[in-house]
Amino acid sequence: MADDKSQGRTLKEQFWDPVAGFGVTFRTMFKKVVTEQYPFEKLPTAPRFHGRHQLNRWPDGLEKCIGCELCAWACPADAIYVEGASNTDDERYSPGERYGRVYQINYLRCILCGLCIEACPTRALTMTNEYELADSSRAELIYEKSDLLAPLLPGMEQPPHPMRLGDDEGAYYRGEFMAQNSDQAPEEVQS
Ligand code: SF4
Ligand code: SF4
Repeated sequence: MADDKSQGRTLKEQFWDPVAGFGVTFRTMFKKVVTEQYPFEKLPTAPRFHGRHQLNRWPDGLEKCIGCELCAWACPADAIYVEGASNTDDERYSPGERYGRVYQINYLRCILCGLCIEACPTRALTMTNEYELADSSRAELIYEKSDLLAPLLPGMEQPPHPMRLGDDEGAYYRGEFMAQNSDQAPEEVQS
């Protein structure tokens, strides 16, 4: 069979084609290496890369999330679970009436599409550039509110506490203090 096949091929095809194949190998050997040495060397992502979510805070540390569930309704993968609750004068987590008592994102389902952050009316929910989300347990990939909340920056206070930026809830949402205080972590993605 092999002889029959080679009889049908020209002399050029029998001798030159295998050498030509090695030609590609030799040419590639002298080109710049494009292999990335991840995880030893990590390249920065694009600034608007959609990575792990973050629940943001106001400059006094109160939470921006009002537990409205719009993000959960917008999610095409049913990856978000929210339970809202009422603030009281003694126990306040966000300006206004409501806050997110339970907030979970299931990263086994999430496709990092960003529809949830578009739906959020208070910009409580944004996405960071963090992409290392693999884990060895399915349970660990359901992130709780405590995993998603932005860290306390200087000047912020862990809720519950009263509104430190004034009694006017609208002043928070109008961002009247934004010129002096930035509440956005450096990695926050602008939607
Ligand atoms: S990024 Fe997309 S899939 Fe993930 S939680 Fe948000 S809406 Fe759902
Ligand atoms: S993250 Fe935004 S959309 Fe989701 S419950 Fe909180 S305030 Fe509503």
